[in-house]
This record gives sequence, C-alpha cells and structure tokens, in this order.
Amino acid sequence: MRIAVIGLGAVGSAALRYVASRGHQAVGFEQFERGHTRGSSHGESRIIRYAYPDPFYTHLMSLAYPLWDQLEEAAQQTLFVRRGMFFFGKSENPELREIEDSLTQNQVPYERWSANQAQERFPAMRFQPGEQVIYHQEGGYLRATACVLENLRLAEAAGAVIREHTSVLSLKSQAGGVLIRLEEGEEWFDRVLVSAGAWLPSLLPFVNLPLSVTRQTVFYLSIANQARLFEADALPVWIDADTYWYGFPADGVVPGVKLARHQRGKPISDLSQPARPLDESDWQPAIAYASQRFPDLSDELTEGYTCLYTNAPNDDFLMDRAPELPHVHLVSACSGHGFKFSVLMGQLAAQETIGEPVGLDLSRFRLGTQR
Ligand SMILES: Cc1cc2nc3c(=O)[nH]c(=O)nc-3n(C[C@H](O)[C@H](O)[C@H](O)COP(=O)(O)OP(=O)(O)OC[C@H]3O[C@@H](n4cnc5c(N)ncnc54)[C@H](O)[C@@H]3O)c2cc1C
Repeated sequence: MRIAVIGLGAVGSAALRYVASRGHQAVGFEQFERGHTRGSSHGESRIIRYAYPDPFYTHLMSLAYPLWDQLEEAAQQTLFVRRGMFFFGKSENPELREIEDSLTQNQVPYERWSANQAQERFPAMRFQPGEQVIYHQEGGYLRATACVLENLRLAEAAGAVIREHTSVLSLKSQAGGVLIRLEEGEEWFDRVLVSAGAWLPSLLPFVNLPLSVTRQTVFYLSIANQARLFEADALPVWIDADTYWYGFPADGVVPGVKLARHQRGKPISDLSQPARPLDESDWQPAIAYASQRFPDLSDELTEGYTCLYTNAPNDDFLMDRAPELPHVHLVSACSGHGFKFSVLMGQLAAQETIGEPVGLDLSRFRLGTQR
C-alpha cells in the first residue's frame, strides 16, 4: 500500500519507520526540516521511566522499552542514557504510594529511601525531612532529537521517502483512499496517518479534537561548584512529585544542567508564529527552585528554549480513525509526557493505519472516551 505519514516528530518518525519496515510504500511529510525546534520533540533529553501513578502507563512502558532497545541497537549510538530516575515528595503525597503500587503491579523493581538516604546517595541535591524517594534503576533519559533523526534515517534505509518543507494543507476521501492537498498539487494514498502534534486540530478541523496547545519552557543552569556531582552516575533524572519540577544530570552536550516544570504553560492560539522567546519571568521560578535544592548551581542560564505541549483531557493520548475519513488515522501522544511512549505509539498507530492487529486495549485513547 501507499501510505502517508503527516508530521515527523517523535511519533511520526517512529510510525514512518515501522510502515517502511513492513514493505509498504511510505512517504513522510514534514512542514519544516527534520529535527526542527518548533514542535514538541526537539532537545537533548526526555525522561524515560516505568514509574507512573497509573498502572496502564507503566504497562505501556514495558512494551516501549524493548522498542527503544531495538532503535538504539539499529542506530549504533547511545540514545538512551539509563542511569536511574527517582520521584520524591512529602511522604503523605498519595502519588508516591500510587507509583509504588503501579511498579509492584507491573513487577518493576524499585527502592524506597528516606530523605537522609537520598541525601547520601545524591549529594548535589537537598532533601527536606519527611520527604521520601522512590527510585528505579531502569529510568533515565532519551536523547530526543537524535531519536527522531535516527528513526527517520532508518525509515529511509527501509525505503521511505521523506518530504521536508512540505506542508499538507488538507485531506479528503477519494477512490477508496485519501487525496492530500499540497502547495504543489494533490497526491493520492491508500491510507494516511496524521501525527501532526500541535497542528492536528488545524489539519482536521471537522473532527473537533479535544486538544489544547501550550507554550512550555526549559532551562539549563550553570554549575558553580562540584561539577562531578551532576554527572549521570552521581545524579539521575528526578521529579519532584509535590511541585512537578523535574531535572536531569549534566548531559555532556549542553553546558549546565536542565530543569523544567511539568505544568501547562500559556495557551498558544497562533501556530504560524514561533513561540514567544524566553524572558526573565520564565526563568526566575526555575532559579528560585534550584536555589533551594541545588546549592552548587548558579543563577546563570547557560541555555533555555520553548517547546509545545499538545494537551488531551486527563493528560491522556489520542489514537483513532478520523471520523468521516475512513482511511485516515490520527495519533497524538503528548500531554507533556509522550516522548518515552513515542516509539510504541508510532508503531501502534502505524499498525492500525495499515490494518494490523495491535493486541492491546486502546479504548481509553479513542475519541469520545476522554474525560
Ligand atoms: C518542554 C517539554 C518537555 C517534555 N518532557 C518530556 C519528558 O521528559 N518525557 C516524555 O516522555 N515526554 C516529554 N515531553 C513530551 C514529548 O516531547 C511529546 O509527547 C512528543 O515530542 C510529541 O511528539 P509528536 O510527534 O506528537 O509531536 P511533534 O514533535 O510536534 O511532531 C509533529 C510534527 O508534525 C509536523 N506537522 C504539523 N502539521 C503538519 C502539516 N500540515 N504538514 C506537514 N507536517 C506537519 C510538525 O512540524 C511537527 O514536526 C515533553 C515535551 C515538552 C514540550
């Protein structure tokens, strides 16, 4: 079959690779250049973890991990820095208990530590009395842009054609397939997968997708002292379950250490313009947080950038047929936590698009089931 994948971020790049690997004629469309910085998938790192308060997502990760291993092996470069990760927070925070239950239910080994134990283990960081840490060794981070680029390179090696700087303007059903409209004309495909991230609602305006797009921010702070305490072997990825600030060890590429906050930023209504650049109102909260937790970080920003969240209700993902377009499927795996699932979600969405059974109950991702 001739299959189009529209949007080549984390999800679309994985989908395109899968479609090509199954011997189909795969064509990927990307409105910007591959690995660009205007969507959701760029940057040096995204957290990967089994630890989720919802056992469904921990289970999905048990399916995603082998796919990351396969991608890394095919890429022959380090895409997954597997040095552990931990959640921490006040011991009464119910989310910590839910995470433990979810890890136990999915038979993922983990450890629970007191603030004192965590302090000894991770001397770069300050913990408060009464805080608890849930640590699991299989966590870490994915080298985000490199994952996208490798999926695309491998897709091409399997026969896919990639059309950069090519916007798909609209879609319509025709002759048992789908006609897509481009600036330079129209092209027909048997099936189409739309993995257009924040642009999904504008490409499928008649679907009334329950998605909202927000501007998110990421900061790197300079290390003033004791740089070795911030290396990946000494400080893994962490998430503060009380505030949802999260951070990474020094990644060896961008100077300083990265931190950000997982909470919805300001809504974005016009995606034709790049997001507003960072200013002091963005980075001051990050500096204030870091000053309480990391005495050896300075208040100097070494890097910072914006990124988009495409939020679904309940922070879930969407994967379904497009109503009224029988041969079009859509997928949105973001809600600010989708990268770690993207290799799986891309594959599942590609399987549904080409008509392969997925062997998994995805009913909670269907349109109309979202709360
Ligand atoms: C700041 C930040 C931090 C995050 N941290 C984490 C984390 O630690 N762990 C984690 O698991 N997840 C994290 N996420 C979420 C994760 O990055 C996203 O879930 C994921 O990148 C979404 O990928 P996507 O392919 O759906 O979207 P995108 O990467 O935006 O890809 C969509 C692509 O479609 C293209 N496109 C759109 N319309 C068209 C069109 N009409 N024609 C052609 N091309 C089109 C766009 O240009 C874009 O390249 C984070 C996200 C952000 C923003």
